[in-house]
Amino acid sequence: MTQATRIASHFQQFFGRPPTVIARAPGRVEFIGNHTDYNGGSVLGAGIDRHVWVAVSRGLPGQFRFCSDQQSEVQSLPAGTSVKQTGALSWLNYPLGVWLGLEKFGLPQPADFDLLVYSDLPAGAGLSSSAALELATGLAFLKLAGAETISPQTLAELGRHAENNFVGVPCGVLDQGTIAFARRDHLVHIDCSGPVFSATPMPAGLRLWVFNSLTKHALIDGMYAQRHAECQQAAQALGVNLLATLTPAEFHARRAALPEVLAKRAEHIIEEHARVGKVVCALAAGNSAEVGSLLTASHRSSQHLFGNSTPELDFLVDRLTAIPGVLGARLTGGGFGGAVLALTGTEFNDAAAQAVARAYTEKFGRAPGILPLQVADGAQLLTS
Ligand code: ADP
Ligand code: MG
Repeated sequence: MTQATRIASHFQQFFGRPPTVIARAPGRVEFIGNHTDYNGGSVLGAGIDRHVWVAVSRGLPGQFRFCSDQQSEVQSLPAGTSVKQTGALSWLNYPLGVWLGLEKFGLPQPADFDLLVYSDLPAGAGLSSSAALELATGLAFLKLAGAETISPQTLAELGRHAENNFVGVPCGVLDQGTIAFARRDHLVHIDCSGPVFSATPMPAGLRLWVFNSLTKHALIDGMYAQRHAECQQAAQALGVNLLATLTPAEFHARRAALPEVLAKRAEHIIEEHARVGKVVCALAAGNSAEVGSLLTASHRSSQHLFGNSTPELDFLVDRLTAIPGVLGARLTGGGFGGAVLALTGTEFNDAAAQAVARAYTEKFGRAPGILPLQVADGAQLLTS
């Protein structure tokens, strides 16, 4: 049974008839480019073979009905509601935010709908299940409303608009941009000053693994906002709008004028932006060892300059990079907890991953999540 058939049968169970449209969007990893997006820098991301599926059909007049594999009951709201949901219903804000955003973007909205969400992508793990949910919903709603195909850039903007303005999370362009433009066996390069999106082939024989520390800093939102503010203060002190507009040489010539904390934050961003460029060159040259070293250098910069790593993430990176089949490892996403991404050759296998997990469990008293990943295509409709 294909996943689409399984989802259609769940939909039938909940709503009493089959869905009209099924769309699917992958999760994403930040390959490299840490906190560079809101500093006007570059980032490389990748779609992964863990997905969120959204199935929809026209619903009952005057009603929006929702259900998810994470909840057993169908939730119903008056059609067109713009009231933000709370508690167990907060997840409805993603599809609602997308529906509301369609009008802002001059795109057609279905007047009513039944919607089912199904996912094999862990939520809240820094793999962007929120953006995957937004983009799959956007494609499904547009198809249901009879719209022409939408460009990946508009789809990304629609999802980001919902997340920034309705859900209220000030994420940058990385999540939705990567998921909209993802391509099998390619990395998505985003020049966030545009933004401009392009695809960079992933050399054959490389593998991605995610080790989820399953920890989150209690003050994660505050820490993120603090780093954001520090970057702005550093840019202002250096006389630029965005840190990534300075080259490393320009920055180092003026570093001494900054208080030490701001100097460290700025150095991380400016060198990280430069590292993304070096990774693109190393990928094009097929120099996988160099790509791996740059990934690990990115982690060390997070650890020592940006201060967004944790003992759990450092431990995973230390363990992983000591294994010969691992080319490099780094925290992926915002940091302050979350996951480590490892770039490996084909010889790194499940037994090696389990050995890392055992060492982690011994040290921290709980097992990490392990996900071997393939680089996958972006958001798409599965039914026409
Ligand atoms: P991340 O994007 O890193 O996974 P977020 O906190 O941004 O973490 O988004 C997670 C939220 O997305 C969940 O709390 C939930 O509201 C929503 N979500 C993700 N997957 C599903 C799903 N299968 N069903 C319902 N809601 C989901
Ligand atoms: Mg998210």
